[in-house]
Amino acid sequence: MKKRVGVFVCDCGTNIASVVDTEKVAEYASTLPGVVYSTTYKYMCSDPGQELVRKSIQEHQLEQLVIASCSPRMHEKTFRRAAEAGGLNGYMFEMVNIREQNSWVHPDREEATRKAQDLVRMGVSKVLRNKPLQVATVPISKKAMVIGGGIAGMQAALDIAEAGHQVILVEREATIGGKMTQLDKTFPTMDCAA
Ligand code: SF4
Repeated sequence: MKKRVGVFVCDCGTNIASVVDTEKVAEYASTLPGVVYSTTYKYMCSDPGQELVRKSIQEHQLEQLVIASCSPRMHEKTFRRAAEAGGLNGYMFEMVNIREQNSWVHPDREEATRKAQDLVRMGVSKVLRNKPLQVATVPISKKAMVIGGGIAGMQAALDIAEAGHQVILVEREATIGGKMTQLDKTFPTMDCAA
């Protein structure tokens, strides 16, 4: 496996850079085994930021990427697309969160920078073990099986059937109805339970 990792450390304006010394993190990243390129950028998710990622993949023949920025909930898909635009499999990429889990919660610059370095080191270590993945499409049959024919099971089966799907209701006893069938009358209407 080739080991040509690129590390991109995002400032997020001052969101990250006011607490974490991003230059120092990028400098540290360049000393890690497998890392052949590391840099910082003000707004990595912006169009120029994504272009930087794409161009760097080609210029430095990067095989794996680590992007240290915000939560993957924000931009994992953005960077996966940027990796693919640069010719990589989108899963040869790891996102490291140095904003929500670091600069937003730590006031001490030195410690936050050290934590960011640790997170980047872990990200690099992980991405070197990543394997290219393909998104699979799996055919499904829109059928449901409900286990238990008590009141809850019967109602669930009816709801699913009313939504237009075939339902198989499984009950181990000879009759459906569960505990309800053992009752004579139910309070407060005193209706026949059966
Ligand atoms: S990638 Fe995330 S951390 Fe970087 S600028 Fe965009 S929102 Fe901020």
